[in-house]
Amino acid sequence: MPTPSSPRVDALREALAAHDPAVDALLLTDIGNVGYVSGFTGSTAQMIITPDEALFITDARYTLRAQAECAGFEVVETPQGSGGYGEALKAVLEARPGVKRLGFEAGHVTVGQWETFRALFPNLEWTPTKDLVETLRLVKDDGEIALIKDTITVAETAMRTVRPLLTPGTREQDFAMELEFAMRRLGASGAAFDTIVASGPNGAHPHHHAGARPMAAGDFVTIDWGASVNGYNSDITRTYAISEVTDKQREIYGIVLEAQQQAIAAIGPGKTGKEIDAVARDYIASQGYGEAFGHSLGHSLGRSVHDGPGFSVRSDTLILKPGMVMTVEPGIYLEGWGGLRLEEDVLVTDDGCEILTHLPNALEVL
Ligand code: ZN
Ligand code: ZN
Repeated sequence: MPTPSSPRVDALREALAAHDPAVDALLLTDIGNVGYVSGFTGSTAQMIITPDEALFITDARYTLRAQAECAGFEVVETPQGSGGYGEALKAVLEARPGVKRLGFEAGHVTVGQWETFRALFPNLEWTPTKDLVETLRLVKDDGEIALIKDTITVAETAMRTVRPLLTPGTREQDFAMELEFAMRRLGASGAAFDTIVASGPNGAHPHHHAGARPMAAGDFVTIDWGASVNGYNSDITRTYAISEVTDKQREIYGIVLEAQQQAIAAIGPGKTGKEIDAVARDYIASQGYGEAFGHSLGHSLGRSVHDGPGFSVRSDTLILKPGMVMTVEPGIYLEGWGGLRLEEDVLVTDDGCEILTHLPNALEVL
Protein backbone atom coordinates (compact mmCIF):
# COMPACT_ATOMS: atom_id res chain seq x y z
CA MET A 1 0.00 0.00 0.00
CA PRO A 2 1.31 3.46 -0.75
CA THR A 3 1.83 5.71 2.23
CA PRO A 4 2.07 9.09 0.55
CA SER A 5 3.67 11.82 2.51
CA SER A 6 3.55 15.45 1.47
CA PRO A 7 3.41 18.54 3.66
CA ARG A 8 -0.30 19.00 2.95
CA VAL A 9 -1.29 15.37 3.49
CA ASP A 10 0.82 15.29 6.68
CA ALA A 11 -0.81 18.47 8.00
CA LEU A 12 -4.26 17.11 7.24
CA ARG A 13 -3.47 13.84 9.04
CA GLU A 14 -2.32 15.84 12.04
CA ALA A 15 -5.59 17.78 12.09
CA LEU A 16 -7.48 14.51 11.70
CA ALA A 17 -5.65 12.85 14.60
CA ALA A 18 -6.62 15.79 16.81
CA HIS A 19 -10.24 15.81 15.70
CA ASP A 20 -12.91 15.58 18.39
CA PRO A 21 -14.90 13.37 18.09
CA ALA A 22 -12.34 10.88 16.77
CA VAL A 23 -12.59 9.72 13.14
CA ASP A 24 -10.89 6.79 11.41
CA ALA A 25 -10.74 8.46 7.99
CA LEU A 26 -11.81 11.60 6.17
CA LEU A 27 -13.81 11.88 2.96
CA LEU A 28 -13.12 15.05 0.97
CA THR A 29 -15.81 16.00 -1.55
CA ASP A 30 -15.06 19.68 -2.17
CA ILE A 31 -13.02 19.84 -5.37
CA GLY A 32 -11.17 22.97 -4.22
CA ASN A 33 -9.99 21.15 -1.12
CA VAL A 34 -9.25 17.94 -3.07
CA GLY A 35 -7.12 19.98 -5.48
CA TYR A 36 -5.28 21.71 -2.67
CA VAL A 37 -4.36 18.50 -0.87
CA SER A 38 -3.46 16.46 -3.98
CA GLY A 39 -2.33 18.86 -6.71
CA PHE A 40 -5.14 17.65 -9.01
CA THR A 41 -6.29 20.24 -11.55
CA GLY A 42 -9.41 18.48 -12.88
CA SER A 43 -12.95 19.31 -11.92
CA THR A 44 -14.39 16.10 -10.43
CA ALA A 45 -12.86 13.88 -7.75
CA GLN A 46 -13.18 12.76 -4.16
CA MET A 47 -10.55 11.66 -1.70
CA ILE A 48 -10.23 9.42 1.34
CA ILE A 49 -7.43 10.06 3.80
CA THR A 50 -6.64 7.50 6.50
CA PRO A 51 -3.69 7.57 8.90
CA ASP A 52 -1.63 5.55 6.41
CA GLU A 53 -3.41 5.67 3.05
CA ALA A 54 -4.50 8.35 0.61
CA LEU A 55 -7.06 7.26 -2.00
CA PHE A 56 -8.03 9.39 -4.94
CA ILE A 57 -11.38 8.62 -6.58
CA THR A 58 -12.16 10.02 -10.02
CA ASP A 59 -13.84 9.04 -13.27
CA ALA A 60 -12.33 7.75 -16.50
CA ARG A 61 -11.92 11.26 -17.95
CA TYR A 62 -9.37 12.05 -15.28
CA THR A 63 -7.63 8.79 -14.38
CA LEU A 64 -4.46 9.55 -16.34
CA ARG A 65 -4.32 13.12 -15.14
CA ALA A 66 -4.74 12.04 -11.53
CA GLN A 67 -1.96 9.47 -11.88
CA ALA A 68 0.33 12.17 -13.27
CA GLU A 69 -0.59 14.96 -10.84
CA CYS A 70 -1.31 13.21 -7.54
CA ALA A 71 1.99 11.57 -6.71
CA GLY A 72 1.70 8.94 -4.00
CA PHE A 73 -2.09 8.66 -4.11
CA GLU A 74 -3.76 5.39 -5.02
CA VAL A 75 -6.07 6.34 -7.89
CA VAL A 76 -9.45 4.59 -7.95
CA GLU A 77 -11.57 4.89 -11.10
CA THR A 78 -15.33 5.07 -10.66
CA PRO A 79 -17.50 2.58 -12.57
CA GLN A 80 -19.36 4.18 -15.48
CA GLY A 81 -22.89 5.47 -15.11
CA SER A 82 -24.74 7.32 -12.44
CA GLY A 83 -23.92 6.45 -8.84
CA GLY A 84 -20.31 5.88 -9.83
CA TYR A 85 -18.82 7.70 -6.86
CA GLY A 86 -21.08 5.92 -4.39
CA GLU A 87 -20.12 2.53 -5.80
CA ALA A 88 -16.41 3.35 -5.82
CA LEU A 89 -16.64 4.61 -2.26
CA LYS A 90 -18.45 1.45 -1.24
CA ALA A 91 -15.70 -0.73 -2.68
CA VAL A 92 -13.00 1.33 -0.98
CA LEU A 93 -14.70 1.24 2.42
CA GLU A 94 -15.71 -2.41 2.29
CA ALA A 95 -12.05 -3.27 1.75
CA ARG A 96 -11.18 -1.28 4.89
CA PRO A 97 -13.43 -2.59 7.68
CA GLY A 98 -11.37 -0.67 10.25
CA VAL A 99 -13.02 2.54 9.07
CA LYS A 100 -16.08 2.79 11.31
CA ARG A 101 -16.25 6.54 11.86
CA LEU A 102 -15.87 8.53 8.65
CA GLY A 103 -15.42 12.29 8.79
CA PHE A 104 -16.99 14.30 5.99
CA GLU A 105 -16.99 17.96 5.02
CA ALA A 106 -20.25 19.14 6.52
CA GLY A 107 -20.07 22.48 4.70
CA HIS A 108 -19.74 20.85 1.27
CA VAL A 109 -22.30 18.06 1.21
CA THR A 110 -25.79 18.59 -0.17
CA VAL A 111 -28.86 17.07 1.44
CA GLY A 112 -29.14 14.77 -1.59
CA GLN A 113 -25.54 13.51 -1.22
CA TRP A 114 -26.04 13.06 2.48
CA GLU A 115 -29.11 10.89 1.94
CA THR A 116 -27.24 8.81 -0.65
CA PHE A 117 -24.30 8.30 1.72
CA ARG A 118 -26.50 7.18 4.58
CA ALA A 119 -28.48 4.79 2.39
CA LEU A 120 -25.28 3.27 0.94
CA PHE A 121 -23.46 2.95 4.25
CA PRO A 122 -26.03 2.45 7.00
CA ASN A 123 -23.49 1.04 9.45
CA LEU A 124 -20.94 3.80 9.10
CA GLU A 125 -20.80 6.54 11.70
CA TRP A 126 -20.84 9.71 9.59
CA THR A 127 -19.04 12.42 11.55
CA PRO A 128 -19.28 16.04 10.40
CA THR A 129 -16.03 18.00 10.24
CA LYS A 130 -15.74 21.72 9.68
CA ASP A 131 -13.06 23.67 7.82
CA LEU A 132 -10.25 21.11 8.30
CA VAL A 133 -8.70 21.80 4.90
CA GLU A 134 -9.86 25.43 4.85
CA THR A 135 -7.83 26.07 7.99
CA LEU A 136 -4.72 24.62 6.34
CA ARG A 137 -5.36 26.67 3.22
CA LEU A 138 -5.26 29.90 5.19
CA VAL A 139 -1.47 29.76 5.48
CA LYS A 140 0.14 29.93 2.06
CA ASP A 141 3.50 28.39 1.21
CA ASP A 142 6.13 30.20 -0.87
CA GLY A 143 4.89 28.67 -4.12
CA GLU A 144 1.35 29.84 -3.47
CA ILE A 145 2.52 33.34 -2.51
CA ALA A 146 4.43 33.57 -5.79
CA LEU A 147 1.29 32.52 -7.70
CA ILE A 148 -0.82 35.13 -5.88
CA LYS A 149 1.77 37.81 -6.72
CA ASP A 150 1.57 36.75 -10.38
CA THR A 151 -2.20 37.10 -10.47
CA ILE A 152 -1.99 40.54 -8.82
CA THR A 153 0.51 41.60 -11.48
CA VAL A 154 -1.89 40.48 -14.22
CA ALA A 155 -4.83 42.36 -12.66
CA GLU A 156 -2.85 45.54 -12.11
CA THR A 157 -1.21 45.53 -15.53
CA ALA A 158 -4.63 45.08 -17.12
CA MET A 159 -5.99 48.05 -15.17
CA ARG A 160 -3.08 50.25 -16.25
CA THR A 161 -3.76 49.25 -19.85
CA VAL A 162 -7.47 50.08 -19.91
CA ARG A 163 -7.66 52.93 -17.41
CA PRO A 164 -7.65 55.60 -20.16
CA LEU A 165 -11.17 54.35 -21.02
CA LEU A 166 -12.45 55.78 -17.72
CA THR A 167 -13.93 58.89 -19.30
CA PRO A 168 -17.40 60.46 -19.52
CA GLY A 169 -19.60 58.33 -21.78
CA THR A 170 -17.97 54.95 -21.19
CA ARG A 171 -20.58 52.44 -20.01
CA GLU A 172 -19.82 50.44 -16.86
CA GLN A 173 -20.29 47.12 -18.64
CA ASP A 174 -17.98 48.11 -21.51
CA PHE A 175 -15.21 49.02 -19.11
CA ALA A 176 -15.68 45.72 -17.24
CA MET A 177 -15.44 43.82 -20.53
CA GLU A 178 -12.26 45.63 -21.60
CA LEU A 179 -10.66 44.99 -18.22
CA GLU A 180 -11.53 41.30 -18.32
CA PHE A 181 -10.30 41.01 -21.90
CA ALA A 182 -7.01 42.66 -20.95
CA MET A 183 -6.55 40.16 -18.11
CA ARG A 184 -7.20 37.26 -20.47
CA ARG A 185 -4.68 38.65 -22.92
CA LEU A 186 -2.12 38.75 -20.10
CA GLY A 187 -2.61 35.07 -19.33
CA ALA A 188 -5.55 34.92 -16.94
CA SER A 189 -7.92 31.99 -17.39
CA GLY A 190 -10.64 34.50 -16.60
CA ALA A 191 -11.81 37.11 -14.16
CA ALA A 192 -11.64 35.94 -10.55
CA PHE A 193 -15.30 37.03 -10.20
CA ASP A 194 -17.79 39.22 -12.05
CA THR A 195 -16.07 42.59 -12.30
CA ILE A 196 -17.82 45.34 -10.37
CA VAL A 197 -17.93 48.77 -12.03
CA ALA A 198 -20.13 51.14 -10.03
CA SER A 199 -20.36 54.73 -11.22
CA GLY A 200 -22.03 57.74 -9.64
CA PRO A 201 -25.03 56.81 -7.49
CA ASN A 202 -24.47 53.11 -8.25
CA GLY A 203 -21.43 53.33 -5.98
CA ALA A 204 -23.81 53.19 -3.00
CA HIS A 205 -24.24 49.46 -3.70
CA PRO A 206 -21.12 47.51 -2.66
CA HIS A 207 -21.79 44.67 -5.12
CA HIS A 208 -23.33 46.61 -7.98
CA HIS A 209 -23.32 44.63 -11.23
CA ALA A 210 -21.62 46.55 -14.07
CA GLY A 211 -24.54 47.88 -16.12
CA ALA A 212 -25.43 50.20 -18.98
CA ARG A 213 -24.93 53.48 -17.13
CA PRO A 214 -22.47 55.77 -18.92
CA MET A 215 -19.91 57.42 -16.67
CA ALA A 216 -20.29 61.16 -16.23
CA ALA A 217 -18.07 64.05 -15.14
CA GLY A 218 -18.10 64.29 -11.35
CA ASP A 219 -18.66 60.55 -10.82
CA PHE A 220 -16.74 58.39 -8.48
CA VAL A 221 -16.24 55.04 -10.24
CA THR A 222 -15.49 52.06 -8.01
CA ILE A 223 -13.93 49.10 -9.79
CA ASP A 224 -13.52 45.78 -7.95
CA TRP A 225 -11.76 43.19 -10.06
CA GLY A 226 -9.33 40.30 -9.99
CA ALA A 227 -7.63 37.79 -12.24
CA SER A 228 -7.60 34.02 -11.98
CA VAL A 229 -4.19 32.71 -13.00
CA ASN A 230 -2.90 29.14 -12.47
CA GLY A 231 -5.68 28.42 -9.99
CA TYR A 232 -5.04 31.46 -7.78
CA ASN A 233 -6.89 34.76 -7.56
CA SER A 234 -6.36 38.45 -6.97
CA ASP A 235 -9.00 40.85 -5.67
CA ILE A 236 -8.41 44.62 -5.87
CA THR A 237 -10.62 47.69 -5.64
CA ARG A 238 -9.84 51.23 -6.75
CA THR A 239 -12.10 54.25 -6.90
CA TYR A 240 -11.35 57.04 -9.38
CA ALA A 241 -12.94 60.45 -9.89
CA ILE A 242 -14.02 61.27 -13.43
CA SER A 243 -13.01 64.75 -14.69
CA GLU A 244 -13.73 66.63 -11.44
CA VAL A 245 -14.11 66.07 -7.72
CA THR A 246 -16.06 67.74 -4.91
CA ASP A 247 -14.90 68.51 -1.37
CA LYS A 248 -17.26 65.87 0.01
CA GLN A 249 -15.82 63.23 -2.33
CA ARG A 250 -12.30 64.18 -1.20
CA GLU A 251 -13.33 64.02 2.45
CA ILE A 252 -14.95 60.57 2.18
CA TYR A 253 -12.12 59.16 0.09
CA GLY A 254 -9.69 60.37 2.73
CA ILE A 255 -11.65 58.66 5.51
CA VAL A 256 -11.74 55.30 3.69
CA LEU A 257 -8.03 55.50 2.84
CA GLU A 258 -7.09 56.40 6.43
CA ALA A 259 -9.23 53.55 7.80
CA GLN A 260 -7.47 51.15 5.42
CA GLN A 261 -3.99 52.40 6.30
CA GLN A 262 -4.66 52.16 10.03
CA ALA A 263 -5.94 48.59 9.62
CA ILE A 264 -2.93 47.58 7.51
CA ALA A 265 -0.58 49.09 10.09
CA ALA A 266 -2.26 46.97 12.80
CA ILE A 267 -1.93 43.64 10.95
CA GLY A 268 0.57 41.17 12.36
CA PRO A 269 0.89 37.66 13.80
CA GLY A 270 -1.21 36.99 16.89
CA LYS A 271 -3.88 39.58 16.15
CA THR A 272 -7.45 38.39 15.65
CA GLY A 273 -9.52 39.10 12.57
CA LYS A 274 -11.98 40.94 14.77
CA GLU A 275 -9.30 43.29 16.15
CA ILE A 276 -8.19 44.34 12.67
CA ASP A 277 -11.77 44.84 11.53
CA ALA A 278 -12.39 47.05 14.56
CA VAL A 279 -9.48 49.36 13.72
CA ALA A 280 -11.05 50.40 10.40
CA ARG A 281 -14.63 50.25 11.65
CA ASP A 282 -13.97 52.39 14.72
CA TYR A 283 -12.15 55.01 12.66
CA ILE A 284 -14.97 55.26 10.10
CA ALA A 285 -17.49 55.50 12.96
CA SER A 286 -15.43 58.23 14.64
CA GLN A 287 -15.78 60.27 11.44
CA GLY A 288 -19.57 59.91 11.52
CA TYR A 289 -19.98 57.21 8.84
CA GLY A 290 -20.30 54.06 10.95
CA GLU A 291 -23.70 53.20 9.50
CA ALA A 292 -22.34 53.53 5.97
CA PHE A 293 -19.79 50.68 6.27
CA GLY A 294 -21.99 47.58 6.34
CA HIS A 295 -19.71 44.75 5.22
CA SER A 296 -16.68 43.05 6.73
CA LEU A 297 -13.22 44.55 6.29
CA GLY A 298 -11.66 41.67 4.40
CA HIS A 299 -11.30 37.98 3.65
CA SER A 300 -8.64 35.38 3.03
CA LEU A 301 -7.54 35.15 -0.61
CA GLY A 302 -6.02 32.28 -2.57
CA ARG A 303 -7.41 29.36 -4.55
CA SER A 304 -10.83 30.85 -3.88
CA VAL A 305 -11.58 34.56 -3.87
CA HIS A 306 -13.13 34.06 -0.44
CA ASP A 307 -10.59 31.54 0.79
CA GLY A 308 -11.66 31.40 4.43
CA PRO A 309 -12.37 33.74 7.31
CA GLY A 310 -10.89 37.20 7.42
CA PHE A 311 -11.47 40.53 9.10
CA SER A 312 -15.00 40.89 10.48
CA VAL A 313 -16.90 41.64 13.67
CA ARG A 314 -17.43 37.87 14.10
CA SER A 315 -13.87 36.84 13.38
CA ASP A 316 -12.54 36.40 16.92
CA THR A 317 -11.29 32.85 16.36
CA LEU A 318 -9.06 33.76 13.41
CA ILE A 319 -5.57 34.38 14.77
CA LEU A 320 -3.25 35.85 12.15
CA LYS A 321 -0.16 33.84 11.20
CA PRO A 322 2.71 34.54 8.81
CA GLY A 323 1.78 33.31 5.33
CA MET A 324 -1.87 34.31 5.44
CA VAL A 325 -3.02 36.44 2.50
CA MET A 326 -5.90 38.79 3.24
CA THR A 327 -7.80 41.60 1.61
CA VAL A 328 -8.32 44.93 3.39
CA GLU A 329 -11.34 46.66 1.89
CA PRO A 330 -13.16 49.36 3.84
CA GLY A 331 -15.88 51.39 2.14
CA ILE A 332 -18.48 54.06 2.70
CA TYR A 333 -21.84 53.78 0.90
CA LEU A 334 -24.47 56.52 0.93
CA GLU A 335 -27.77 55.80 -0.80
CA GLY A 336 -28.62 58.50 -3.32
CA TRP A 337 -25.10 59.92 -3.28
CA GLY A 338 -22.79 57.06 -4.15
CA GLY A 339 -19.85 55.57 -2.38
CA LEU A 340 -16.45 54.12 -2.62
CA ARG A 341 -14.26 51.22 -1.55
CA LEU A 342 -10.52 50.66 -1.61
CA GLU A 343 -9.04 47.16 -1.48
CA GLU A 344 -5.48 45.94 -1.07
CA ASP A 345 -4.16 42.38 -0.81
CA VAL A 346 -1.66 41.84 2.00
CA LEU A 347 0.61 39.02 3.19
CA VAL A 348 1.01 38.54 6.94
CA THR A 349 4.74 38.43 7.77
CA ASP A 350 6.75 37.69 10.93
CA ASP A 351 6.53 41.29 12.10
CA GLY A 352 3.57 42.85 10.32
CA CYS A 353 2.44 42.58 6.73
CA GLU A 354 3.59 43.16 3.17
CA ILE A 355 1.23 44.97 0.81
CA LEU A 356 1.14 42.86 -2.36
CA THR A 357 -0.88 45.30 -4.48
CA HIS A 358 1.01 48.20 -6.01
CA LEU A 359 -1.38 50.47 -7.92
CA PRO A 360 -1.33 54.00 -6.45
CA ASN A 361 -4.02 54.57 -3.86
CA ALA A 362 -4.09 58.38 -3.58
CA LEU A 363 -7.24 59.97 -5.06
CA GLU A 364 -6.82 60.42 -8.80
CA VAL A 365 -9.00 62.64 -10.98
CA LEU A 366 -8.94 61.16 -14.47
ZN1 ZN B 1 -12.94 42.83 -4.20
ZN1 ZN C 1 -12.53 41.24 -1.61
